[in-house]
Order: sequence, then C-alpha cells, then structure tokens
Amino acid sequence: MISFNVPPFVGTEMGYIQDAVREHKISGDGKYTKKCDQWLEEHTGAKKALLTTSCTHATEMAALLAGIGPGDEVIMPSYTFVSTANPFVLRGATVVFTDIRPDTMNLDEKLIEPAITERTRAIVPVHYAGVSCEMDTIMEIARRHNLRVIEDAAQGLMSAYHGKALGTFGDYGCYSFHETKNCSMGEGGAILLNREDEVEPAEIVREKGTNRSKFFRGQIDKYTWVDIGSSYLPSELNAAYLYGQLEAVDVIQNDRMSSWNRYYRELHPLADAGRIELPVVPEGCVHNAHMFYLKARDLDERTRLIQHLRERGVYAVFHYVPLHSSSAGRRFGRFHGEDRYTTRESERLVRLPLYFGLTEEDHHTVCDAVREFYRKS
Ligand SMILES: *Cc1c(COP(=O)(O)O)cnc(C)c1O
Repeated sequence: MISFNVPPFVGTEMGYIQDAVREHKISGDGKYTKKCDQWLEEHTGAKKALLTTSCTHATEMAALLAGIGPGDEVIMPSYTFVSTANPFVLRGATVVFTDIRPDTMNLDEKLIEPAITERTRAIVPVHYAGVSCEMDTIMEIARRHNLRVIEDAAQGLMSAYHGKALGTFGDYGCYSFHETKNCSMGEGGAILLNREDEVEPAEIVREKGTNRSKFFRGQIDKYTWVDIGSSYLPSELNAAYLYGQLEAVDVIQNDRMSSWNRYYRELHPLADAGRIELPVVPEGCVHNAHMFYLKARDLDERTRLIQHLRERGVYAVFHYVPLHSSSAGRRFGRFHGEDRYTTRESERLVRLPLYFGLTEEDHHTVCDAVREFYRKS
C-alpha cells in the first residue's frame, strides 16, 4: 500500500531531542525553540517568529492580538480547514465565506470587497497547497478599508509571492508543523509578526498573559499577569525535532519538488487530452510542493478514481468539505455571494501521495494507476 502521507524524518531529530533532555530543559523557549524562531526569521524575513503549539493556536493568537470580538466579521474562503475559522468564532466573531478561484483554490481577491460591511475587521487568506493568494490586491483592499490581514500559511513554508515569503504580507502569518506538513514537530506551528510593535503583545499572549519573556531577558525583575492570554508555547522536545528538519529543509524540498514535477510531467498528457486538470501556479508564485492534486470531471468520477487507486494499493484522498456546508459553518458563518466554484471544485479534487522519501517506483505505480483508470473510463 502506498500511503498518502509519511511524516518527514531526516535522522538528526533524535540527537537534538537527547541533547534537550540531557540539558534538563524540555519546557518552552529554550535553545531549540530559539533556534527555530531564528531560522524562521532568517528564511522568511519576518520581524519576529514565535514557535507555537499549532497553527490553530498561532491563529488564535492572531485573533486575540487583532482584538477580534463579538459582532465582528472576518472574511475567509469556505474551502479551508476548520482551524482557519475556529479562532475567530472563539472570539465571538461571525465568519463570512467568499468563493474561491478555480485555478488555485484560493480566496478570489475580486470577491473580497463586495463582502465587506461596516462590521468587517479582518481578511484571512489561505495559501492552499503552498501557492500564494494575490497578496498585492488583498493588502491594497485591507489598507483601503483599514482591515487586519491574518495569513493562514499553514501549508506555506518555503513558498513565496514576488520573492517574499508567505506569512510576511499581513499583520500576522500562521505556519503549521503538523506531521502532514513539509517540516514537522508532530504538533506545532509558528506565528510570524511583521511589525515591531506586535512582538511584545504576542509574547504576552503566548505566555499565559504574563510578561515572563521580558523577565527571562532580565528586562524586569518579576513577572506578572498583564493581559488576556493562553499557553501557546511548545516543549523543547518538539522544537528539537523541528530544528533537525529545518536544518535539512533543502533536502526535504528537493525531494518533494522532484516528486511534484514528476507527477506534473507524467500526468500532463491526460490534461492535454482534456481528461483531468492539473494544479496552476500563477506567475510570481513560487510553491513548495506541499501537495499534488488533480481534478476529475465531477464527484462521481472522483469517487470511482479514488476507489480504483485504492484497489491498486494507492491511498489517494479528497480534501476539505466546504465549511459553509457544515453544521458549525452554518451556525457561525454565512456565505457571501454565489458559490460558483467552492462546492463544485472541491468535489472534483483528489490529492495524490506526496511525501519526503516517496520512491520513484511508488511514484510510477500511482501514475500508472491513474492512467489505467482513464484508459478504461
Ligand atoms: C494544517 C492546517 C491548519 C492547522 O494546522 P495545525 O498545526 O494542525 O493547527 C490550518 N490551516 C490549514 C490550511 C492547514 O493546512
């Protein structure tokens, strides 16, 4: 059986974890957390990066820092993971879903402005498959309407838009290091802060609403409760694991990229013949081979394709069920405008196995099985 995902492992992780244990420092914000923060700052250009317990938590931090509250509206795509929406719903806000572009599956930047009301406080672009949203347009709309921008860059490590890392355009950028992402710490994430004046408030929110970070730097002589906050600081064990992977990011990325390119090459004839559609990477976007998907004609064909692949030992999967069609989505949000693409495109999409270490042989098995399906149908 060819798995859909195998969590990345490069070999140095255990040594770093042992080191953290030997130093009797496994709570948060030790050597490895700082190394990861610094790595992220150097590789993204963010003012400050803070490792968190998940991308969900990074987004919760962003919602708190942006001061989102009851009655506020937050615009986001419906085609996304629940973690894009929950942090704002937890603050009492209403989620306003808008339609996606069929080419990238990202928020359609042209549909944001019509969804803005006087209650709108923020836009949350999701960079699906590590392919950037149209950030120039989105930032321009945000400036004109004085809105905050929180980028869900969970899948966006090492991706860029016009040469700038994802997560560094908005007020906050949220990354995930869950085991399904390109680099992993099991469960974990990071928040990128792009303005100097956001750094201290973010440290406070992440440290249970205390100014403990300042205390550890020796800037104050005791620490206390200064604001609302929670516990968003990961253990050094997880940070040590991640650090091994960040150091080896080029190895991971080269491997994933050659898998992605191989899929693209091998499946292109089927796309040329009009049988399937392949991912689109717009000009100016550098993607990170986070995901390889294809689109079947419709839901029925997709169901049969997934079944066919399963019978050939290939585990391919569909992705998000649009949030606005879920029971919680209906309760906490509304869809603005027409659902032209969200439902239809999500029902056609199939993700193929793609992970660090996927062998060429397994790769051919997957492509052969796809080709066989289309020869027969
Ligand atoms: C993975 C993912 C998340 C959640 O990440 P966690 O680290 O598991 O909280 C959020 N948004 C998107 C788009 C994701 O792919």
